[in-house]
Amino acid sequence: MATFKCNFESKKFMKELERDIKKSVESDLKKHPEKILNDHVGETISATCSSCGNVKVVVLRGGGVRCPKCGHTAKVNLVPDWR
Ligand SMILES: [Zn+2]
Repeated sequence: MATFKCNFESKKFMKELERDIKKSVESDLKKHPEKILNDHVGETISATCSSCGNVKVVVLRGGGVRCPKCGHTAKVNLVPDWR
């Protein structure tokens, strides 16, 4: 029996795996921001209202936000903060 050792760079695999996971999480968040946002309904978050420029908006059920100043509602673009 012969043993042939072939080298695999596990770091490279891990990096590719990590990139794939991040990609899939990011596209999932884009499609279903409500998955995260429904846990934060009623909370005030930092985002700029595109209508009046207010920098605080309130999270709504269903993946949107509402500006408490002018009542403008918008969809949220979730950006994961990887650490
Ligand atoms: Zn506003």
